[in-house]
Amino acid sequence: MELITILNRCHRFRGFVYQHAHFSADKKSIEVAVRPRKGSAAVCSRCHLPAPGYDQLAERRFEFIPLWGFLVFLLYTMRRVDCRRCGIVAVEEVPWGDGKRTLTKAYMLFLARWARRLSWKETAEAFRTSWDKVFDAVEHVVTFGLEHQVLGQIDAIGVDEIQYAKGHKYLTLVYQIDLDVTRLLWVGRERTIESFRGFFAVIGDELASKIVFVCSDMWEPYLKVIREKCSEALHILDRFHIVAKMNKALDEVRAGESRRIASEGGVPVLKKSRWLLLKREENLKTEQRFRLRDLLRYNLKTIRAYLLKEAFQQLWDYSSPAWAGKFLDDWCRQVMRSRIEPMKKIPRSLREHRELILNYFRAQKLLSSGVVEGLNNKAKVTMRKSYGFRTFRCPELALYHSLGKLPEPESTHEFL
Ligand SMILES: [Zn+2]
Repeated sequence: MELITILNRCHRFRGFVYQHAHFSADKKSIEVAVRPRKGSAAVCSRCHLPAPGYDQLAERRFEFIPLWGFLVFLLYTMRRVDCRRCGIVAVEEVPWGDGKRTLTKAYMLFLARWARRLSWKETAEAFRTSWDKVFDAVEHVVTFGLEHQVLGQIDAIGVDEIQYAKGHKYLTLVYQIDLDVTRLLWVGRERTIESFRGFFAVIGDELASKIVFVCSDMWEPYLKVIREKCSEALHILDRFHIVAKMNKALDEVRAGESRRIASEGGVPVLKKSRWLLLKREENLKTEQRFRLRDLLRYNLKTIRAYLLKEAFQQLWDYSSPAWAGKFLDDWCRQVMRSRIEPMKKIPRSLREHRELILNYFRAQKLLSSGVVEGLNNKAKVTMRKSYGFRTFRCPELALYHSLGKLPEPESTHEFL
């Protein structure tokens, strides 16, 4: 069986013929010559319709999926067309390529699928190609996906921020969190009013007006845009963001007290206690649980803060917004009397957002909680897998690619 036969089976295009396959001079790659079928006209890359030929350009090499350790290239001499519809001389469009990209569409889809499972660097290494080509592949697939995705009705969205690169660079992520569809809808630069408005500009007023639930954290710019664009929706402060805030305050208390003990030459009882205190008790291992019990005997600010944090968890067991509200108020009073400064920030912000927090209970039966947290964790994993990202474009593509559930370009054959 010849290579041409296989190619005709899995990667055949009307209007083009595989001529012959041969090794390159160094025997490391296979080169397959392609030519137009006799009598078939070239297609204008601007209007995508056949047009009369004009001239020919130099031969181009399109990288195809490697085979048995050999790189594979399709060699093709591009034609130019004199397109009367467009009124210009344009380069032809070839069905296996995408504009100026050097990889074939089939290879880009192949690489992009692997880049969802492996990091981009690992993908490049596994297929002996470069990081830039993996980037190209993902960009091609994501661009196609965004152009072809159908938004449909959106019942619920969650907005969240995520840090990228080093320092304080943020992205705004908007998820669809309907009961039957959860996916990333949008990635924006920064976490400003302007960036979040960008999402609403994309979906348009009609879709926005039909959103029933919005889930967010307490970041003021987001709250403002939600009031402005989704005034009819039930706005819920996500439980996971409240817990995160609480953990941050507790961590501050612990760090401060730990430093104080050290400076006074005391016994460093809080050493290595960070995760003991931040994790839920039921998630601790047996020996950690013993250490925690040991720690709880000390009369430390950290311990009191920890107990307040644990007591707060009871809030989520309520089903009635009224009872939850009563519990919330009692808890806040208790913390305000505690004289633990970092913790006192929490009641202040909880009181300010009391109604939005209670909306959690009003919506409980209709919105799967924890879904934003799950998506946020996946987003973090994606960012970690694609380290080395300096510019906005890379995390943007990686996030759409792994969380967007975007439609993929069609392929005539499954190469995986
Ligand atoms: Zn044209």
